[in-house]
Amino acid sequence: MADFAIDPTLQDQLEWMRAFVDDEIVEIDLAFGGEEAVYNKKSVLWSEVLRPLQEKVRERGLWSCHLTPEFGGQGYGQVQLAYMNEILGRTTFGPSIFGCQAPDSGNAEIIAEYGTPEQKERYLQPLIDGMISSSYNMTEPQGGADPSQFRFRATRDGDEWVLQGEKFYASSLPYAEFAIVMAVTDPTVSVYKGTSMFLVPTDRPGINIVRRTGVGTEPEGRGNHPLVHYDDVRVPADNMLGPEGQAFVIAQTRLGGGRLHHAMRTVGVVGRCLDMMAERALSRTTRGESLASLQMTQEKIADTWIELQQFRLQVLHAAWTVDQVGGHAARKEIAGVKVATPRTLRETVLRTIQLHGALGISNEMPLSPMLINSVVMGIADGPTEVHKQTLARQVLKGYQPAEGDWPSEHLPYRRADAKARYADVLERHLANL
Ligand SMILES: Cc1cc2nc3c(=O)[nH]c(=O)nc-3n(C[C@H](O)[C@H](O)[C@H](O)COP(=O)(O)OP(=O)(O)OC[C@H]3O[C@@H](n4cnc5c(N)ncnc54)[C@H](O)[C@@H]3O)c2cc1C
Repeated sequence: MADFAIDPTLQDQLEWMRAFVDDEIVEIDLAFGGEEAVYNKKSVLWSEVLRPLQEKVRERGLWSCHLTPEFGGQGYGQVQLAYMNEILGRTTFGPSIFGCQAPDSGNAEIIAEYGTPEQKERYLQPLIDGMISSSYNMTEPQGGADPSQFRFRATRDGDEWVLQGEKFYASSLPYAEFAIVMAVTDPTVSVYKGTSMFLVPTDRPGINIVRRTGVGTEPEGRGNHPLVHYDDVRVPADNMLGPEGQAFVIAQTRLGGGRLHHAMRTVGVVGRCLDMMAERALSRTTRGESLASLQMTQEKIADTWIELQQFRLQVLHAAWTVDQVGGHAARKEIAGVKVATPRTLRETVLRTIQLHGALGISNEMPLSPMLINSVVMGIADGPTEVHKQTLARQVLKGYQPAEGDWPSEHLPYRRADAKARYADVLERHLANL
């Protein structure tokens, strides 16, 4: 039986988090905003404002809770992380201040699991100390959802690997000290067996950012998701992360948790939208009536509340399933959440914009970036269609084809069987009518 109970210790921590986020982090979002500020850890914002706040989070025992105590975290399960991320999701800087910002959190997880002691010391430690940013380079211009299109190669040359190719949407690469790069090391086998991962310091010669791609209405040429060329970039052989040819197995380690964490934060954003809608409905009048008194406004609020409850419980259930059986066995639940996330967010944000009218779609409210983010959620980490496919395949595994030509719910056959079973009683029953 699923159990989402919050124990008193966690409850205490969540209350502290809620107050800390409201009192300390919301204003950082307002004053500094923007993704670039999140990842540029050499800025005065980081040294003067964010690091002292991170210290408070550490003292409170809430730093990088997704990591095990061995790596400075709390070893929290996904249900505990769900409650935390719901609070952090209401802000942009929250995850960084609590040591769980993507892609660093997922990168830390895979280095913790697959890294050698030397790799952990050099790459993991500063990452989990929050001193550096990292990047994860998998997508290529010609192939994102379909890895069989990947052309990026790594070729062995003595004690080194030589990396050659293009990566697209290499998020936060401009600020990263290192990137985890996926490269085909054996083109003679399936890409799923012939791709390896490398830890690549970004100061290596040959790494050239071609242009900085942005999202949505960001000005062209400015953004945090560049196209990058790796032109004969050399790394020592021991910069391979995990076993050769196992990149996709390793990638699964980071993606499952990452998808859930995005969903958990989306619960927070949807909650924020509901707050905005309710306040607006109660504050604004039209033709002498409050918006809240109009049935179609009430419908928007009711639908949003229902969808928030459904989505929140779905996310908690997926988190609980992962805690029980692990990410691989919970891929149906994770895929379901991945599909529901953009849809729930998009519908909620659209309603919130609508209720705020021109102000809602203006750049004076936080709603347009949320709307773009809802679209991002349906593309990044794999498009919705692919996750629906995964989900449907998993669901279908629990079923068998019908025996014979007719569906098992076909009424004439079912009724004939039922009537045969009760033939005697039926005859007497009908005679008495
Ligand atoms: C904001 C953002 C940040 C990102 N950060 C990173 C990052 O840090 N590192 C990284 O490596 N990548 C990153 N990505 C890239 C992301 O992982 C890819 O966009 C994603 O895998 C989809 O690949 P694609 O964009 O090439 O789309 P495509 O593979 O070209 O797919 C385009 C569309 O085709 C359809 N489609 C594709 N496959 C199927 C299918 N099997 N069945 C049905 N329809 C299908 C879908 O409609 C899909 O949306 C990021 C993307 C975004 C938007």
